[in-house]
Amino acid sequence: MIPFLDLGAAYRELKAEIDAAIHRVLDSGWYILGPEVEAFEAEWAGFCGADHAVGVANGLDALILALRALDIGPGDEVIVPSNTYIATWLAVTAVGARPVPVEPDPATHNIDPARIAAAITPATKALLPVHLYGQPADLDPILALARQRGIAVIEDAAQAHGARYKGRRIGAHGDVVCWSFYPGKNLGALGDGGAITTNSADLADRIRVLRNYGSRLKYRNEVQGANSRLDPIQAAVLRAKLPHLDAWTDRRRAIAAAYAEGLRDSGLILPHVPDWADPVWHLYVVRSPDRAGLQKRLAEAGVGTLIHYPIPPHMQAAYAGLGLAPDALPLARQLAEEVLSLPMGPQLALADAVRVMSNV
Ligand SMILES: *Cc1c(COP(=O)(O)O)cnc(C)c1O
Repeated sequence: MIPFLDLGAAYRELKAEIDAAIHRVLDSGWYILGPEVEAFEAEWAGFCGADHAVGVANGLDALILALRALDIGPGDEVIVPSNTYIATWLAVTAVGARPVPVEPDPATHNIDPARIAAAITPATKALLPVHLYGQPADLDPILALARQRGIAVIEDAAQAHGARYKGRRIGAHGDVVCWSFYPGKNLGALGDGGAITTNSADLADRIRVLRNYGSRLKYRNEVQGANSRLDPIQAAVLRAKLPHLDAWTDRRRAIAAAYAEGLRDSGLILPHVPDWADPVWHLYVVRSPDRAGLQKRLAEAGVGTLIHYPIPPHMQAAYAGLGLAPDALPLARQLAEEVLSLPMGPQLALADAVRVMSNV
């Protein structure tokens, strides 16, 4: 059996370090925020090349708090990719704003910058690109458009830990960058976790206050905040894993290179990497017009695959109220019908990747 992703193997590889980190927190007697969270925030900001990092409870909250910190709410519009995980849209609707979807570049599956200008209205307050599958979105035209129109850029980097755009790590290109440390992400906790990074001291400060009941001083509540704090046990786990992240990304790159070479003549559409992109291969997503047949063949050979994502947000029951017909966003719909994610992760042996390919 070749699982899609083996989280237990990732834990076993660093068991001694992770166990020690968890026990350090247990012994400290400090279980909310505090030194472990602050140390991780400094280390994560450093890794991302950002001035500030603020730990929060999960990736969805990171997006929600970023939108709130920018005072985005009812009556406002936010441009989102049509092809993304639903969390990107859920954050926008959670603050009462309207998600305005833009179709992807079919080569990269990421938001197509050339289609954004037409979707901007006087109500648009932010552009929210996603670095899907660990592949950076084309940020320069997005940032240029945002500056020209005086609107904010929030990046959903939940799949892009360590990815580079034009040589510089994702972490502070836009106004706020939102991270998830869900266990399956490239940097994953052993439970939920999230963060924002930014070069704006003001936005970092607002989010720091918002994540903790709107409070800077205990029992003084400046704004109606949330309880969305990064757990110190998870911060300690993330600190144990972070020094290994680049090496683990290199292993993902080796598997992606093997897939690209070995599947060149398979007839599948393979990921396209623009020359300015340095992806971190959160997922290795291929496209096939016979996705069901391919997935069945692999399953029969004991190879686990997943679909990211089978139903695009605009076709979810949750968004029936937006009144978007399935074909209102035909590219998102088509990708959802054709994509398949092959096994990928730092603990996947290259020999197993070869076995995956022999069953494609
Ligand atoms: C995982 C993910 C999120 C949400 O992160 P959680 O920590 O699960 O809340 C948001 N956006 C994208 C693109 C994701 O992959």
